Amino acid sequence: MSLEEYKKKRKFKITPEPEPEILQKSENRFVIQEHDASHLHYDFRLEMPTEIGSGDIVLKSWATPKNLPEEAGVKRLAIQTEDHPANYIGFEGKIPKGEYGAGIVKIWDKGKFELIKRDPGHIQFILSGKKIKGEYNLIKTKGFGGSKNSWLIFKSR
Ligand code: MN
Repeated sequence: MSLEEYKKKRKFKITPEPEPEILQKSENRFVIQEHDASHLHYDFRLEMPTEIGSGDIVLKSWATPKNLPEEAGVKRLAIQTEDHPANYIGFEGKIPKGEYGAGIVKIWDKGKFELIKRDPGHIQFILSGKKIKGEYNLIKTKGFGGSKNSWLIFKSR
């Protein structure tokens, strides 16, 4: 995945969202953006290379309808969305009506993470945010009626 999909979906003359700036080094930041669009959801983003071990630094992104669980063991759906540029991490604002993702974006939490493991179907990390803290896992679902972008997120400790 690259930022082509991010760019294709947006008209930068209209949306206040940032045009991509390419970073080569991750600062291991994460953000959860509350996005009051057609359905309220939370966009969870981890700053890391676009591919495992290589590529530009982007925000790997998942939309979580119910946000991250704060209780260990509770599994929640996380739908992977297009990579976002690293400079999206501070974005808050109003995406105009008629544009992709129209609605209000606010930062719900942010901080740093420590990556424990990144396999194609399993990413494990420790989040140190203001609200969200602890060891989390993203597991790609296979089958179970989910789409190819379906993952589950849960806290392990
Ligand atoms: Mn969103």
